[in-house]
Amino acid sequence: MGQAIHAGRTGRPWLRMRQYVFHTKGDVCCWCGHPGAGDINHDDGWANSPETRMDPDRMSPIHGVYGGGCPYCPWVWSRKLGRMAPVICNSVVGKQPLAVALAKRARQQAARSLDW
Ligand SMILES: [Zn+2]
Ligand SMILES: [Zn+2]
Repeated sequence: MGQAIHAGRTGRPWLRMRQYVFHTKGDVCCWCGHPGAGDINHDDGWANSPETRMDPDRMSPIHGVYGGGCPYCPWVWSRKLGRMAPVICNSVVGKQPLAVALAKRARQQAARSLDW
């Protein structure tokens, strides 16, 4: 399981794991489906999964602060920056497990399509 990746003498485990995830899974974002993801997401949620936290099989590419967000999604208003900014998929998903976030979004989309 998670034991396959060793830090080695020089590498930092986290950076090596990121490289491994991009190498094996590509750079298509697990949240919005666009390419160019520069960060990785913990599929189980960081807090919920101490045992899979460093398991690259439970990680997916995602647009994050590294890489500057999604280059394809329409920009959104950032209250923090006080201007329009690229979508940071990683902060949309947040700390919840990816499956939970995806299910929530699907429910919202279903509700929205019923509205009109
Ligand atoms: Zn994305
Ligand atoms: Zn996108």
